[in-house]
Amino acid sequence: MIKKCEHADCTRAGTCRCPKTRDLREYWYFCPEHAAEYNKNWNYYAGMSADEIEEDWERQTFGSPLKDKAQANADEADYIKFLNDFINGRSTFDKMPPKTTLPGPVTAALKVFDLPISASWREVGARYRALAKKHHPDRSGSATEFAKISSAYDVLKKHFGKK
Ligand SMILES: [Zn+2]
Repeated sequence: MIKKCEHADCTRAGTCRCPKTRDLREYWYFCPEHAAEYNKNWNYYAGMSADEIEEDWERQTFGSPLKDKAQANADEADYIKFLNDFINGRSTFDKMPPKTTLPGPVTAALKVFDLPISASWREVGARYRALAKKHHPDRSGSATEFAKISSAYDVLKKHFGKK
């Protein structure tokens, strides 16, 4: 059986269900026109305090209100820690240049070899052989360039504890 629209003096069929209260246990039955009017004026949060609104939002979002404020604060601390860990992890992931503690001459020598500060002695050796071959004065290379490479190699040799 279809109810009549519950709006005063309306005789149309009440086919639209509109909540009377926020707990949605009681409904008005209106015709589409009066339902639209009712919905427009119905303020879900009317008469609620800020705390009640927050609690209602928490109930809808989490299924239950985050009643225990101390617990909520603990969660927040966890969340901040999580964010920090995430940001720190991300910076590693993004390969942010690590803070170098290498002495200036070593860094400069690696630059001559076009190697990163994380370069191993093997990489230094391989690059030195390649550059020395290329720039050796006997092979019509540049004596200045060769000297630069040689002194850079000496610095790195010392740095890596090689003789
Ligand atoms: Zn009506």
